[in-house]
Amino acid sequence: MSLTPFIYSAHDLPRRAGEIRQVSLEIDEHEELGFEVLAIAKDEPIDIEMTLQSVDEGVLVTATVQSVAIGECGRCLDPVEIDVDEKFMELYEYDVDPRQARKADKKKKKADKPEELSEEDDEVRHMVGELIDLEGPIRDAIILNLPINPLCSADCLGLCPECGAKWSELPEDHAHDVIDARWAALQALKELNLPENGG
Ligand SMILES: [Zn+2]
Ligand SMILES: [Zn+2]
Repeated sequence: MSLTPFIYSAHDLPRRAGEIRQVSLEIDEHEELGFEVLAIAKDEPIDIEMTLQSVDEGVLVTATVQSVAIGECGRCLDPVEIDVDEKFMELYEYDVDPRQARKADKKKKKADKPEELSEEDDEVRHMVGELIDLEGPIRDAIILNLPINPLCSADCLGLCPECGAKWSELPEDHAHDVIDARWAALQALKELNLPENGG
């Protein structure tokens, strides 16, 4: 496993069920995380508060993920800033060192696991030695929860489709003569009593 800022070494967590460590991490070296309209910018700090707990099979990680995503309002295109505050819980099973495989095999009771669990449902994360790769769960916690259509405010009025100005900055009676002129033309046609097209 190559070391990335998402990889945490649980070297000081004893492999004894019940042992617990509280860990704070700041990840400030990463690619942009999100979508075109809304993302945590490259290297924007991501704060992780996590509890590592030794369980029989490995280490259970319970974490909160906090950062700030920036993007643009889906209606008025103003910049928006959205607080990211998500949680995840993930079990990292101890990896099996080949030299200890025989020992581990005795302990493991695979037969207890129901067969029907598909691999997709049962994606098991493994530690590599003492290392825990947090990137997947952090990514998922962020990306799966970002709003797809961010708004500067829930009641943003958006833009006038004719001139592109913000409705919030336009007078209430804002309208365009173009539209009025078209309606006027239609009205004039009706008054002339011309036959309608395609009748
Ligand atoms: Zn807006
Ligand atoms: Zn307008």
